[in-house]
Amino acid sequence: MTTLIPDLLYHDGAFRPGLALQADPSTGLITGIVPASQANRRSALSLPGRALLPGFVNAHSHAFQRLIRGATQWRPPDDSVSDFWTWREAMYGAVLRMSAGDVEAVSRFCFMEMLRAGITTVGEFHYVHNDEAGRPYADPAELARRVIAAAESAGIRIVLLNVCYARGGIDQPLAAEQRRFDTPDVDAFMRLTGDLADDVANRPLVSVGMAPHSVRAVPREWLRELHALAVSRDMPFHMHVSEQPAEVEACVRAFGMRPVELLHDAGVVDARFTGIHATHISDNEVRLLGGGAATVCACPGTERDLGDGMLRALDLLHAGAHIALGTDSQTIVDMLEEMRMVEYHERLRRLERVVLHERGAAGARRPGPALLHMATRAGARSLRLPAGVLEVGALADAIAVDLGHIALAGWTPATLDAMLSLCAPAEVITDVWVGGQQVVATRRHRREGELMRNFNDVARRLAGGS
Ligand SMILES: [Zn+2]
Repeated sequence: MTTLIPDLLYHDGAFRPGLALQADPSTGLITGIVPASQANRRSALSLPGRALLPGFVNAHSHAFQRLIRGATQWRPPDDSVSDFWTWREAMYGAVLRMSAGDVEAVSRFCFMEMLRAGITTVGEFHYVHNDEAGRPYADPAELARRVIAAAESAGIRIVLLNVCYARGGIDQPLAAEQRRFDTPDVDAFMRLTGDLADDVANRPLVSVGMAPHSVRAVPREWLRELHALAVSRDMPFHMHVSEQPAEVEACVRAFGMRPVELLHDAGVVDARFTGIHATHISDNEVRLLGGGAATVCACPGTERDLGDGMLRALDLLHAGAHIALGTDSQTIVDMLEEMRMVEYHERLRRLERVVLHERGAAGARRPGPALLHMATRAGARSLRLPAGVLEVGALADAIAVDLGHIALAGWTPATLDAMLSLCAPAEVITDVWVGGQQVVATRRHRREGELMRNFNDVARRLAGGS
């Protein structure tokens, strides 16, 4: 039994004093939220000066992309275009140089960086399947298994979103530099995904989800059967959607419909569906996402880096959609920064202050609880996990915040959610538990030095030429 006694515990949408959290590491579940006075103090870990929150859920990640952080922040002197598509070329260049061992080492390091930032679950949108020459490995799930192993050894919970990827664009064959992503046979892909889910069924930190890459990369006719498998296996169903205007225009040209309209027509926009980005959606698409109680996963750190655009967050919430958050390309790994950008982008778009609020919340609008919800419960809902909340029966994934940190000076119970979600650096997070096991203590991961050295070896060897 693990018992944690913080000064404040985030429970029922507010920071409350005098509560202790009890967890059973053998099941990984929270077994009690009890008055601190009733907790057995001898076996408890006292956390003076700390607030305990649910761990953050990072609903969209490509861990291997951590390798190219910083390497794409330049533009040739001839003033040629630099945008999402030129960034993608650089990313492809990096992918083609990485061995299976490199993918594993970079992923493990990235997952450790996530844990240090309070992320206890990652939805890993995994699309590098084949070897450097584009041939399937002897075990076609080799890289998926390595990424899962990387998560387990770092100690983070993972939903491996296995990506179907069959073409270079609508009516375009796969390009040579996309050869590592190819899943040419939909039946083989579904079998492989089902087998992978069976194989990890007893691994406490691991589950598997379904992820057709995008309307660009997956034929329309495949969507229904991929979705049917997700329903029959109760898997999340994630897709990149409308990140760039060019993708929307190509979809309209080919089908006479915008991407979310096409997906709705295919019957996949439902409570299981998460559309990643959705930075270029029409009023009708907002209505369809809301009507389906679907999730949109915003990745504003990546979206600002790539010049993708800004989310219509308030419109989506009002329509009935949910908003989760992801670190996507790992240009930053900081969920506090991701959550605040959703609010601040709305302020910049609307030229007003204090925009977002929790659905159904009475009284004054307060973005803090809404933003914390996105980084926790909404992400867990998107990944179909009982996480993102500190209550009995939920996964015992929690983080401690240092209430004495300089950035939080002056906090009160009424301002703490706003200080955290809108003002504080990730450095305020000191300790992290996954499934009731502590994996970060006083801002240190247990294998930090080793994972950092391994990552630096890969980065040095592969540097240049991107
Ligand atoms: Zn992505």
